[in-house]
Amino acid sequence: MKTPSQADNDAKAELKRQRNREAAARYRERNRERYNQRMRDWRKANPDRARQMALEHRNRKLAQDDPAAVAAFRAKEAEVTRRTQARVKSEVYEAYGGYKCRCCGETEPLFLSIDHVHNDGAAMRKAKLYSGSGTGFYQWLRKNKFPDGFQVLCMNCQVGKHKNGGVCPHQQKV
Ligand SMILES: [Zn+2]
Ligand SMILES: [Zn+2]
Repeated sequence: MKTPSQADNDAKAELKRQRNREAAARYRERNRERYNQRMRDWRKANPDRARQMALEHRNRKLAQDDPAAVAAFRAKEAEVTRRTQARVKSEVYEAYGGYKCRCCGETEPLFLSIDHVHNDGAAMRKAKLYSGSGTGFYQWLRKNKFPDGFQVLCMNCQVGKHKNGGVCPHQQKV
């Protein structure tokens, strides 16, 4: 059983913590860029701890009682993933000359993909360097500083190249 003065002290301490939290939030708001940069630096310096904290944060969010809050968290998470994937993809295309077929000049992004110049895509996937041809592949390219041996080609030129002994028929009929 707490004495009235203990309860009073607890309430005061809680009020103080609350004020500190509010002051910290105001500081972050005023110095958003600097705060974000410091957090990025910290995560870089403490990758394991950062991963652990992110995981705990996620688990807490998913364990909330309010289903609407959980759904909102999931929707936000999916949106962040979508934006990250789109950014990685555009960085990859940027690095390989933009959304333009290296062979025929096609610029419709939906027709384009990243081609293995030396036709070694199957071998690279088999060696488990990355999986699939989407985000995992793009992330692998970025992580490896956009290595040589890749180019932007449209589907026509890729199929033509494949069926024509490794050279698009636009360039040379075999
Ligand atoms: Zn083409
Ligand atoms: Zn072509």
